[in-house]
Amino acid sequence: MTHAETAPFQFFRLQVDRTRRLGPSLVRVTFTGDDLKNFAAGGRDQSLSLFLPHPGQEAPVLPPLDNPDMYAILGAWRALPEDERAVMRSYTVREQRTEPVNEVDIDFALHEDGGPACRWAAQAKPGDRVVVLGPAVADNTGVRFRLPEDADSVLIWADETALPAASAILEWLPAETRAQVFLEVPYSGDRAELATRADATVTWLVREEGAPSAVDAVRDAELPGEAPYVWIAGESGAVKALRRHFVRERELDRRRVTFVGYWRKGLSEDALREVPDETQEDA
Ligand SMILES: Cc1cc2nc3c(=O)[nH]c(=O)nc-3n(C[C@H](O)[C@H](O)[C@H](O)COP(=O)(O)OP(=O)(O)OC[C@H]3O[C@@H](n4cnc5c(N)ncnc54)[C@H](O)[C@@H]3O)c2cc1C
Repeated sequence: MTHAETAPFQFFRLQVDRTRRLGPSLVRVTFTGDDLKNFAAGGRDQSLSLFLPHPGQEAPVLPPLDNPDMYAILGAWRALPEDERAVMRSYTVREQRTEPVNEVDIDFALHEDGGPACRWAAQAKPGDRVVVLGPAVADNTGVRFRLPEDADSVLIWADETALPAASAILEWLPAETRAQVFLEVPYSGDRAELATRADATVTWLVREEGAPSAVDAVRDAELPGEAPYVWIAGESGAVKALRRHFVRERELDRRRVTFVGYWRKGLSEDALREVPDETQEDA
């Protein structure tokens, strides 16, 4: 890399500015910080790695962040004792605003198994400090939603952890794109207003109202047009079943489907990093 090039990902020191409860299952945390002047979210499902303090720590524990080699920082972070080093979790940039001030929103799903990120978000307050490994250029590999140029319709399935990504994708979709959108959430109160210029049909699948399984929900969905694109993200068992459905049963070209397991029942994200990704196994 020459001096003129910017590394696609960098570490950013941020603090909580405010929080807002969006519904029973989601809390929005808005972050600010001088470092955000170099933050360049690509929109859609832009993901980042969030480093959080353990309870009782004032700030997340990481090695010095002034090393330009992010892999060296990550290696040094991994070498720290597990109960001391910052907890790392994957999240989505729900929105970045640069005016009137630079801010980033992350929407956290609160869940009963309450891992460290969920517990942190439930109690987050102004001034709380975090570190983010996030985008410094807008075109980066943390954006997985890649609409093929010839796509003439889109199908989206997301659970509550991927609702922030699905919402941002809907905001990004070109006007009049035909979109079938399936959003699975725990509670009726999790339904939200979604902004889009797309020609979108949104179906809320509310678990407390007896929502069908992910595959049953999409089984009869028509994929209009000749060249659909499918984006699926959420609990990895559901994602795997949907992948089978679209690739094996409906025989969709697998290059036109994006499937991302966001979490897996019974496994923390640390444990998940140690096992094969079941969503990418052959359908
Ligand atoms: C690319 C990417 C983007 C993501 N974006 C978001 C986002 O914007 N918002 C968001 O909320 N999540 C998002 N996630 C999912 C999030 O990283 C996981 O839910 C993560 O496990 C939460 O960490 P934790 O510390 O709360 O729980 P962990 O310590 O990782 O897990 C503890 C226990 O909780 C269970 N668990 C984890 N998440 C849930 C859940 N949602 N419901 C029920 N049980 C759960 C686990 O199976 C485990 O048993 C994203 C994941 C990826 C890979």
